[in-house]
Amino acid sequence: MTQRALIVGLGIGGMSAAIALKRQGWMPVIIERAAERRKGGYFIGLREEGKNAAAALGVLDVMEKRTPDHIQFWDVHKDGTRRRIVDLTQETNAPIAVLRGDIEEALWHGIEGKVEVRFGTIPVAIINGATQVHVTLQSDDGQETTETYDLVIGADGVRSTVRKLIFGPDEAFFHSIGTMLCAFPLARPVAGFKAGDGLMIADVKRTLTVFPLEGRPSTALFSYRTKHPERASKKDPFPTLRHIFADLDVDGIISKALEDLSATDDFLFDSVQMVKMPHWSKGRVLLLGDSAWCLTLYSGMGASAGMIGGQALGEALAACPNNMDAALQMFEAQMRPFVRKHQRFIALRSQLFVPSSRISLWGRRVLWQILLRSRNYLSRKSS
Ligand SMILES: Cc1cc2nc3c(=O)[nH]c(=O)nc-3n(C[C@H](O)[C@H](O)[C@H](O)COP(=O)(O)OP(=O)(O)OC[C@H]3O[C@@H](n4cnc5c(N)ncnc54)[C@H](O)[C@@H]3O)c2cc1C
Repeated sequence: MTQRALIVGLGIGGMSAAIALKRQGWMPVIIERAAERRKGGYFIGLREEGKNAAAALGVLDVMEKRTPDHIQFWDVHKDGTRRRIVDLTQETNAPIAVLRGDIEEALWHGIEGKVEVRFGTIPVAIINGATQVHVTLQSDDGQETTETYDLVIGADGVRSTVRKLIFGPDEAFFHSIGTMLCAFPLARPVAGFKAGDGLMIADVKRTLTVFPLEGRPSTALFSYRTKHPERASKKDPFPTLRHIFADLDVDGIISKALEDLSATDDFLFDSVQMVKMPHWSKGRVLLLGDSAWCLTLYSGMGASAGMIGGQALGEALAACPNNMDAALQMFEAQMRPFVRKHQRFIALRSQLFVPSSRISLWGRRVLWQILLRSRNYLSRKSS
């Protein structure tokens, strides 16, 4: 009999799992809290691992790529002077620049018309049986139904409801980096910079980074350090950022970016939390993507990990068709080394985005310069 999986969350992890399970003859059903599919989002640099995973899922070719032809990155100082630095998007193994929405759109091509998707629906209770899971679902109109599945996959992001219902509260698994982020698309080019220019205005404990994209306005990323990120995440982003960045408004770049923030609903304002769990499954409930291992933006690998995870789950279920425990263990054994590797240096990598001290601010500037010079040297040598 065809096995049924309920996937909670129509993000990168959820759609990747749906494509992989469908291929293995499963019948996935996706529920999504939002009333409709989200679009847009923030800049993502998709590296080799992510490109390979997207290709394996059959969606790389349909994915919009937005790497500018003539990209230049600038370190903008408080006094208005600027210095060329290495292109942040090319920091390692030549990622392609995309929006989160581009990856989701490509994955959507893989499931549209093939997988049942129910919007405006959340899980409110999960009973984890020996061979099946009973899930009570609630739709936007308050209606509740209970359905039975062979597997439930919580791909519902860093603040996962499935994780709370089955494994425990967020605090048990969150590892704070002590930073906040606010990411959103800018409505217009940054005055004084060319299309294809990216920039970073950095000071101790706060940074604005602008990531350029081909054919559409750049996306902005405000980051700052705070002792109480969870408390900060409940605040209103606009006055909070205006206050924190007030004396860093070089050439009005900060205030114009904040004007754009106040005019859009497409923003993410949240604390940065790594998720660490001893196990990603209990019985027949599995977590996948940010809900299981959130690698944070500092790893540059979260989107890739979601796609790799979906693919790995499909392969594990195919390898152990009659033994769910073995399949879930195989999935875990496959994904653990990758996740461990990328979680290890997150605190250190966060220094590149938001330096915590003057020394780190200075060290970061020196590093970008060295990288730029060595890249220029290598490209001169090869031409
Ligand atoms: C600013 C920023 C920059 C980043 N840059 C990069 C990068 O350069 N490279 C990279 O690889 N990664 C990057 N990432 C990480 C990447 O975006 C994430 O790891 C990835 O999008 C996570 O996908 P996901 O499907 O696990 O979770 P999400 O994207 O959080 O998706 C979860 C889905 O579940 C839905 N949902 C939530 N709760 C419920 C519920 N109770 N019921 C039903 N549905 C629910 C949500 O609406 C959402 O659709 C970045 C992240 C940020 C924030």
